[in-house]
Amino acid sequence: MQKKTVLITGSTSGIGLAIARAFAQQGHNLVFNGLEMDGEQIAASVAEEYQIDYLFDPANMLHPAALRTLVEQAENRFGTVDILINNAGIQHVSPIETFPEEKWDAIIGINLTAAFHLTKAVWPAMKKQNFGRIINIASAHGLIASEFKSAYVAAKHGLIGLTKTAALEGATCGITVNAICPGYVKTPLVERQIVDQARSHQISEKDVIEKVILAKQALKQFIPTESIAAMCLFLASESAATLTGASLSIDGGWSAQ
Ligand code: NAD
Repeated sequence: MQKKTVLITGSTSGIGLAIARAFAQQGHNLVFNGLEMDGEQIAASVAEEYQIDYLFDPANMLHPAALRTLVEQAENRFGTVDILINNAGIQHVSPIETFPEEKWDAIIGINLTAAFHLTKAVWPAMKKQNFGRIINIASAHGLIASEFKSAYVAAKHGLIGLTKTAALEGATCGITVNAICPGYVKTPLVERQIVDQARSHQISEKDVIEKVILAKQALKQFIPTESIAAMCLFLASESAATLTGASLSIDGGWSAQ
């Protein structure tokens, strides 16, 4: 692949960081984002390791103006954002009855609405150059539900709806839009859930992993972050030019049931 500019939200942790590493290894320009305190150092060390150009902007996904500035900065520095990966996300687990309203707003805002704002912001330049790749990191929860995850399931289903609509609109201007739907991946987001579930079920963390977290996955193992990164590289490649509007599962057989 020719050198491109790749903007990945939430790329200073977990899945986003693995995706950033994969694109950095191929020599692309990277725009890092995330709220980790050491985000700037994380971005700098990946850039140093692979000798690439980069930008780090801790834009908060809840602030539309900051998202527009994020894209403007990237375009001023590198020309266009060729590949946008909407990955930033948060989770909160609670029955609807007691689900905090501010958590609902934050989950919808970060996991869904930010993807709309960023898609809108990168669109004109992608359209002008008749090339763009947008990859939305959804979830198995974009296709099926689990109890106590109302906001997350709603946001991820919404993200798949946005993916399909944007794919139709992008079809005439060289922009493909796809979603990836991972099962459980052992990142800080899931590590926090393991601790919380062990406390609320009064069982060990090992039992939470085997009996709660991986209960629905036919393959009783976490999805490696590197596998999701490899899917992103493929979706960004020329070979995937006619793949659009799809929701690709990598969930150890969870959604096969
Ligand atoms: P993570 O907690 O390791 O990383 C999330 C990233 O998002 C971090 O960099 C964080 O700083 C950033 N972020 C959170 N709120 C933000 C905000 N307001 N503004 C800017 N950045 C913000 O989690 P992860 O597991 O790597 O999750 C990445 C994506 O993958 C999420 O969208 C998540 O829903 C999705 N996903 C994760 C799993 C899993 O099992 N871990 C499974 C399916 C889908």
